[in-house]
Amino acid sequence: MIVAFTIDTTYNSMKLTAHDLKQMNKATLARLSPEQLLSISERMLDDLQEAMDRLNQNSNNSSRPPSSTPPWHSNDTNNAADPANHDNADDDMDSVIKHPDKNDDHFLPEDASLDNVPEAPDVTDIQPPEVAPTPPTKSDPIKRVAGKQEGTQGYGRTQALAITETVYHARTHCASCNACLGDYEAQVAWTAFCTIDIAEHIQGNAGITLTNTKHVFFEIKCDCGHHNREEPYAGIPDVTWPKTNLSEWRLVGPRLAAMIVLLSKRHRNSRRLIREFLLNFLRLELSVGTIDQTIREAGRSVAPLEEELIHEIEEAALAYVDETSWKEAGVLRWLWVFRTLTVVFFMVGKRDRTIFCKLLLNSKFKGIVMSDGWVVYREYANRLRCWAHLIRKARGLSESYHTKAADVGLQMLALFTTFQNAIYAARNQPEQPIGMLAKQHENDIESLKALCIASSDSTHDKLRAFARELLGDWDIILRQIHDPSLPLTNNEAERILRHWVIDRRLSNGTRTDEGTRTFTVLASVIETCRIRGAPVWDYLTQVIAAARKGLQLPVLPIMHAG
Ligand SMILES: [Zn+2]
Repeated sequence: MIVAFTIDTTYNSMKLTAHDLKQMNKATLARLSPEQLLSISERMLDDLQEAMDRLNQNSNNSSRPPSSTPPWHSNDTNNAADPANHDNADDDMDSVIKHPDKNDDHFLPEDASLDNVPEAPDVTDIQPPEVAPTPPTKSDPIKRVAGKQEGTQGYGRTQALAITETVYHARTHCASCNACLGDYEAQVAWTAFCTIDIAEHIQGNAGITLTNTKHVFFEIKCDCGHHNREEPYAGIPDVTWPKTNLSEWRLVGPRLAAMIVLLSKRHRNSRRLIREFLLNFLRLELSVGTIDQTIREAGRSVAPLEEELIHEIEEAALAYVDETSWKEAGVLRWLWVFRTLTVVFFMVGKRDRTIFCKLLLNSKFKGIVMSDGWVVYREYANRLRCWAHLIRKARGLSESYHTKAADVGLQMLALFTTFQNAIYAARNQPEQPIGMLAKQHENDIESLKALCIASSDSTHDKLRAFARELLGDWDIILRQIHDPSLPLTNNEAERILRHWVIDRRLSNGTRTDEGTRTFTVLASVIETCRIRGAPVWDYLTQVIAAARKGLQLPVLPIMHAG
């Protein structure tokens, strides 16, 4: 067993914790020297500014990012539905013990249920740290952690993993008087937890190595009387994520969490299959409940990136848009995909124009929309029609048993094919001025129009509908002939949607707002990384690690050339 001793004092972005503040009052401040007062004032000012920023992010005011008011958050959603997302996450919450500090209101919201409680390190063998000078008392949180398996209804045998590293978290200076507190050896360990993770990949080495890191937290009473305690970071509850809180106190480390997310979202495994995979290939026992919580927590971790993704879409010159049906708690909805050169963004909402309006029609977006012919898209003037849909319809008509419809269909198909080939050929001659190709094919365009006019009162339903569709959207449909550099099809969006259509068939959709948002934000970030040629596992790992410490999230990876 390798044991590394590390001191990490960069846990909290807040300088004073609730534990500190509870001990402070006018009397304790009155006892401080002018220098100490200045020092604590500076820390309080930093914290106040940080708190105000957080308040703005979490309240219902105007500075809230647009993405935090989820457009898919609709009134008809059945919020009372099973909170589990995708498969029936049979949360083994029986086996989850309470946070050792559960009675301390600075750790958890008052209404925190067991769902919000960070998992206990239930597969590891936690012992009070060797350096702890005081033996655990009856109420010692460490002892409660260590003793929790006995008698609890677990999911299987307790897996004891050797500890590969121990990280000590201790304060170096008093939060009140700023006096030096000495290192952890002079302090008392008050709690500890273990995190299982995957070791960072070493270049040239294949395979996966699991690590089991024990985090020990220390406390000490300063000579000034202030009781200093280093705590794992615990995030502020967010009403849009009622079931998920961010915390450093996690059994599953960031890299393992990111792998679980990819096993679910990219490789379409159910929670149960992921459990089986981890057990079979990594010899690691995790409950379905822990796996479900890990995926949700990853969703909440990446959620702030929605704002960045939406901003990039608004700036884009071209957006491919498509939608397909999605089920949330048994209710039919649309799953939308927005794809630009650098971004893929998913949203689930009602089967109407709301999301399209919110993201493109009534936003700062000024680019071109590529879509199929659905009437909702027609409200946006600067758009393109997907030719793949039109050619498919022409081909369908050409194969009709109705002689007249088949004849017209065949002629239309031949014209579309001619245009398509001409457009591809013209792309090799970028110097050709815009409008040139349309001029060259003036007669063909007129022939197509004549066919449409002649068929617009046809007794053949499909022929009549197609002729009217073409005439009704004529100028838009012909845009690519005028400017052959424009894309011809909506394949970019449809291809991406296909993966999630299979996912929907396997999972039968999502069950709650929170489950849906977990799915859309993770899918957006994963697909965006993929089109940018960026290593998605690494990026998700960094985001989860930062979110668990309340730190600024790393920006999305840049686009890789080629
Ligand atoms: Zn002090």
